[in-house]
Amino acid sequence: MENIKEYIQKKKEFYKEFFINTKKKFTLMIIQVNDDPASNAYIKGKIKDCVEIGINYIHQKYDESVSEEFLLSEIEKFNNDKSITAFFVQMPLPKHINEEKVKRAVTPKKDIDGFNPLSSYIPATVKGIVEYLKDNKFIFEGKNAVVLGRSNIVGKPMQKELLNLNMNVVNLHSKTTDDDRKFYIEHADLIVVAIGKKYYLDNRFNYKENCVVMDVGINREDGKLYGDCEPNLNVLYQSSVPGGVGLLTRLALLINFWEACKNEI
Ligand code: NAP
Repeated sequence: MENIKEYIQKKKEFYKEFFINTKKKFTLMIIQVNDDPASNAYIKGKIKDCVEIGINYIHQKYDESVSEEFLLSEIEKFNNDKSITAFFVQMPLPKHINEEKVKRAVTPKKDIDGFNPLSSYIPATVKGIVEYLKDNKFIFEGKNAVVLGRSNIVGKPMQKELLNLNMNVVNLHSKTTDDDRKFYIEHADLIVVAIGKKYYLDNRFNYKENCVVMDVGINREDGKLYGDCEPNLNVLYQSSVPGGVGLLTRLALLINFWEACKNEI
């Protein structure tokens, strides 16, 4: 498997070419409500990508006290604004705002995060992982995949996407028994882990020799980031944290935006 940072640099060149050469003006809107350090860091990274690739962006920041009603009315405005190609609302949102309502309010054709169940786009984390595996000639068909975690933004859409690629997919969660979890993990050719537990996957499992592990987990401890996997698993390949799936997710958001632009041409 290719080094993720090098892979991303190479992929970005293609999209850069598109945005440099296009005559039509496209705009990405980044909506921020939460002012927490994690959201600020994610948005900073996404803005850095826009600048690097030449994407015109607007960073629309609201006060954390903004009402749900007002935010929904703003989203409706952006849904109908022809000068905005696509947009996303950085999650999480303050507790008084219903995230599901907000996700469903974004019109499917502008929803490059893919969080609306009707979205025209694959959620960025799932897309980032799948594109990376495809580009690295990973063989999906007839192979066994285990997805740990069943969130609406990662686990469930990941399961669906891998099934569409003709894998045998098992989705495990907190109610899976230890014996079953061990059985499925030890038969997996691909493991995608998104549970949010530092170093949950370690070498207590006997992984298949050719197993590929994509670590989605982001666990913060003493200002440092840790994945859901211990480093140096006995597998063929594991993505690192940081510098792994987080970067693939950012790349996939750009790809989704590029798709939104192509749809407008
Ligand atoms: P989530 O909403 O945090 O839910 C965690 C999931 O893990 C639940 O479905 C839970 O099962 C399951 N789970 C807990 N313990 C488990 C265990 N021992 N075995 C199997 N499953 C278990 O999920 P999420 O939003 O997908 O986030 C998961 C992690 O990924 C977090 O660390 C998050 O920060 C990270 N993340 C990273 C990116 C990225 O770009 N790198 C993107 C999104 C999320 P139940 O449903 O039974 O409770």
